[in-house]
Amino acid sequence: MRKPIIAGNWKMNKTAAEAEKLIDELKPLVKKSKPEVVVCVPYTDLAATKKAIEGSNIKLGAQNVAWADSGAFTGEISAEMLKEIGVEYVIIGHSERRTYFGETDESVNLRLHQALKCGLKPIVCVGETLFEREKKRTNKVLKRQVLEGFKDVTDFTDIVIAYEPVWAIGTGKTATAEDANKTIGYIRNLVKKTWGADTAKNLRIQYGGSMKPSNAKELMAMRNIDGGLIGGASLKAEDFAAIVNYKD
Ligand code: PEP
Repeated sequence: MRKPIIAGNWKMNKTAAEAEKLIDELKPLVKKSKPEVVVCVPYTDLAATKKAIEGSNIKLGAQNVAWADSGAFTGEISAEMLKEIGVEYVIIGHSERRTYFGETDESVNLRLHQALKCGLKPIVCVGETLFEREKKRTNKVLKRQVLEGFKDVTDFTDIVIAYEPVWAIGTGKTATAEDANKTIGYIRNLVKKTWGADTAKNLRIQYGGSMKPSNAKELMAMRNIDGGLIGGASLKAEDFAAIVNYKD
C-alpha cells in the first residue's frame, strides 16, 4: 500500500515570522491526518519552521538543492546545509524552476542524484505545457522528462514524483481527475517498463495543479494518484488542512 503524501509548496511566500504563525495554525488541524504531511518552505524559513513543527506530524521540505557538495555556486544551497537544519524532503525540477531559471532534465538529474546521495527525499516535478498538450505531445514530453531526469537512478524507495501539468499551476484550472489519473498511469507504466513492476507499484506519484479543498477528494479517489503538491492552497492553514483531511 502506498501512503498518500500531501506536500505544500509555499514558493516565495511567507517570512520566517509568518511561517511560524501558519505552522501554529496548521498543527492542530492536521494532527490526525492519514496522509504524510510536508511543507516545502523558502530557505530563510527552514530553521523557524523546523522549530515550529517540533512534536507534530508535519515534515520539513525545501524547494531545491545544489548538485555539488560545496564550492563556488553563488546562490545555491547544499544538501548538507539542508540536512543540518533537519530538512527531509526537497522539490526538484518544479516547472517554475524550469521556466524562469533554466532548469533542464540534465540539471534535474544532477540535483536528484545529489539529494539521494545525501539522504534527502526528492519530490521530482514533471509535466507538460499548454502548447505541448494542445500539440498532443504530453506523453512524449513526460517520457523525456522521466527517462532523462531519472537517468542512472536504481532505487526509487525515497522518491516521489509530482505530475504537474504546467497549464494547471496557479491558474485555477485543474486537470479532470480522470485525465490526471490516466496521465499518472502513463508515468507509472513507463516506470514499470524501465525500472520494473515492483518499483512502479511502490512509487508514490502526486498530482499538482490548482488542487484545492473542493477537488481534493475526487482527485485522491483515483487509483494512480497518491497525493498532491499544493501551491496556492497551502498558504492558508484551513485550506491546506482541508486537503490533507480529504475524506475517502
Ligand atoms: C505548485 O506550485 O506546485 C502548484 C501545484 O501550485 P498551485 O497549487 O497553486 O497550482
